[in-house]
Amino acid sequence: MNNKRFTLASLALVIAAGCSSSALAETAQHEWIKDQDYKLTILHTNDNHGNFWQNKYGERGMAARATLINNIRSEVQAKGGSLLLLSGGDINTGVPESDLLDAQPDFIGMNMIGYDAMAVGNHEFDNPLDVLAKQADWADFPFLAANIYKDGKRMFDAYKIFNKNGVKIAVIGLTTEDTAKIGNPEYIKQVKFTDPKVEAKRVIAEIKSKHSPDVIIATTHMGHYLNGDSGSNAPGDVQLARYLEEGSLDMIIGGHSQEPVCMEGPNQYANFKPGQSCKPDVQNGTYIVQAYEWGKYVGRADYTFKNGEFTLQSYNLIPVNLKKKVKNAEGKKVRVFIQDEIAQDQSVLNTLKPFQEKGEAALSIVIGQSNGLLQGERNIVRNNQTNLGRLIATAHMQRAKSDFSIMNSGGVRASLEAGEISYKGVLTVQPFGNTITYVDMTGNEVINYLNEVATKSKDSGAYAQFAGISMTVANKQVTNVVIAGKPLDLSATYRFTIPSFNAAGGDGYPKITAHPSYVNTGYVDAEVLKDYIQANSPLDIADFAPKNEITYQ
Ligand SMILES: [Zn+2]
Repeated sequence: MNNKRFTLASLALVIAAGCSSSALAETAQHEWIKDQDYKLTILHTNDNHGNFWQNKYGERGMAARATLINNIRSEVQAKGGSLLLLSGGDINTGVPESDLLDAQPDFIGMNMIGYDAMAVGNHEFDNPLDVLAKQADWADFPFLAANIYKDGKRMFDAYKIFNKNGVKIAVIGLTTEDTAKIGNPEYIKQVKFTDPKVEAKRVIAEIKSKHSPDVIIATTHMGHYLNGDSGSNAPGDVQLARYLEEGSLDMIIGGHSQEPVCMEGPNQYANFKPGQSCKPDVQNGTYIVQAYEWGKYVGRADYTFKNGEFTLQSYNLIPVNLKKKVKNAEGKKVRVFIQDEIAQDQSVLNTLKPFQEKGEAALSIVIGQSNGLLQGERNIVRNNQTNLGRLIATAHMQRAKSDFSIMNSGGVRASLEAGEISYKGVLTVQPFGNTITYVDMTGNEVINYLNEVATKSKDSGAYAQFAGISMTVANKQVTNVVIAGKPLDLSATYRFTIPSFNAAGGDGYPKITAHPSYVNTGYVDAEVLKDYIQANSPLDIADFAPKNEITYQ
């Protein structure tokens, strides 16, 4: 696929239209030498979400990623090529050890690995803006976002120009407009997220006139949606490529939808497995890639550049110490590396280790107190409304500013004893890392939804805990619904939260992810509960005592 042909074709149109000779002269300026072969390797990751350290099975981690990337860098340099390393954003949120340190180890790790630039992700707005400013300061590379404004000015650079052996590469950063919906509302009041497609068009024109780049790449945090069908999400990379003039962007390095973008055919995903080959998406003359999430893979695109032609030679998603389960000689399931183990880089490991230890120690720090037991014992929470069920649901309700909240009791795994509460304790209650989602439904839709959800049988994980709502259940039907102290109005609209697991149909709940108003906030349940406990301690368990949320008749 040769994108440069389109650029040359459009240049011919410009000539025909009688463009001024000075503009033409500028367009013709280049530092590369005629008939010389240039090699450029682009590496990428996205949606790190706090995964600076390897997981408990020895998978992933920045120390192994560093070795992998250093090896590729040496290989490319030995062949006279150059390398660009980009991130599709969302460095923040997801691993408590990182979250508690404002992702400092993640940014230090990225510096050591040698990232060149990063797109700003929606989760970069999970913390107050001064934390984001501190992170941008920690990073030795720019945060790029063309479509984020504060006080009428861009908060970040829109793009950066790289000169690799005389080949000029422009990298533009773009962020999903959904950040306005899913960023922490407390922190983004004064931040404006404009349409990234429109900004991209404008910035591309600006870059072309100012810098005449040979290659233009976007590093985005917008999501890849098959055939541009983003449903209730803001438009993603496919829509971006289609919106622009054909081939305007040579490549889009994506993030946000957290998947390997590997195609079987046009607008059809391949059933990709780690270690297999991966064919990137191509839309309107632009390659689109994404490397799943959490540093599971490093994406590698090897390009050649000759006489203005930028040509993709090969593309790969390289697993970073991923494992699979196999049966050993005794028939027991064990985890083995899918590919040869990548040794961890010692200096990255040594640098990050104290952070991991500090993060672990911080998990044991007391974050709050309660004056009594918060009940999460399996046999109780799956049969009755409990104070812990209501506490969790209330925390979700507050974070999403919803009218009421539903929490599956199967997602409540332990009690919190009276007295001091640590983050570690919170993680024993909510170990799954589900995220908080919400949806806006009419009173009529709410009744239909509750008829399925509130009537789930007791003694199962599907039995729901509620906050902000009460009802009567009889003959598998819900009546007398009261929300915020008022009887439900069938034509009014109500917002409620539900864990991502149940929104996707888990526990046999109706699947609501395709509902037009569905939003996955990306907030991890344990972190939301921790924040609520921290902000409201000491907790008086009487405040969370069940108040006839469900009356059975
Ligand atoms: Zn995201």
